[in-house]
Amino acid sequence: MNPDLHWSQTSSRLLNDCPRAWVKTYATKLMTGATAPGGQRIGMQRRPTMDDAMVSAMRLTWTDFLEDHFVGTVWTAPFREQRLKRRLCDVMEASNLKATSPKFAIQLQRGVHQLETLEQSMGLRPVMQSPATRWAYFERLDGIDINGVRMFTAPDLAYYHQQRWTLVRLQFRSPSQQSMAQQIEHLLMVRWAMAQPGFPNEASAYRVKVIRWHRRRWMEHHLEVNGRLLAQADGLVQHDLQEMKWLLRCWQSDPSLKTIPLAKEAKTCDGCTYRDLCPAGKGLKQAKKVQERELLDVLQSKETKSLRTA
Ligand code: SF4
Repeated sequence: MNPDLHWSQTSSRLLNDCPRAWVKTYATKLMTGATAPGGQRIGMQRRPTMDDAMVSAMRLTWTDFLEDHFVGTVWTAPFREQRLKRRLCDVMEASNLKATSPKFAIQLQRGVHQLETLEQSMGLRPVMQSPATRWAYFERLDGIDINGVRMFTAPDLAYYHQQRWTLVRLQFRSPSQQSMAQQIEHLLMVRWAMAQPGFPNEASAYRVKVIRWHRRRWMEHHLEVNGRLLAQADGLVQHDLQEMKWLLRCWQSDPSLKTIPLAKEAKTCDGCTYRDLCPAGKGLKQAKKVQERELLDVLQSKETKSLRTA
């Protein structure tokens, strides 16, 4: 059976951080076609923290806000806080998270501040301040088929300004430095838009803007869009798809997962939901050594067998 492969940032990052965790999260569901609606996030590989809950709550509240802003409904400051509080309580309950009242209050105030300042960011001014701007917002689960692969690379927001469409990626948390691979990932928003009915299908019709939260403030930058960089973005997807197929083949031929590579870095194992049943649960370095030795033994025994039968 052909796996129902898809590409998303969530899946790609997990694949690159820990192939074993990727297989545990996606393999069975991909091979049986039992993807979740939208197919993007079909398993949480990390125990959710209070910060994860806050990021989810902010994203949900932001979407609520955009829905209302789209039809001209204005939010007051108390309403924003009330909505975020409701969303945060719901996410915490669903994730079975608890927080003391002071901790909850601090988190809530930080979240409110983050959402307020996002509305005021330079990059969103055409949408926030000019009712004449053409714009649209999207959910990450809005997938589209490109060359036979379901791609979940929708921008968070798109607006038409100064003769071009600006595709906006919002990151509610981000590291100090963005890797080249991450920058290229953002360009996949252009591929997504080019394949959408109603959007132009030339790359030159787009700008890409990243608005990311780092050290308690929003930072903004543009990415260049050109044919060479888009080809690199396509190459990144193809590379990941090949890797996914290879891992699925390994998993099918040996479901014990013994041959599937472990995490690249020990920090990936912190909080991993598969840790209790993973050989890396008691230390990644040691587990990798054991895995290498076992794989070598298997290879050597195969070589010995073929010599005997030659
Ligand atoms: S514990 Fe580490 S090596 Fe094991 S699945 Fe999780 S991230 Fe991968």
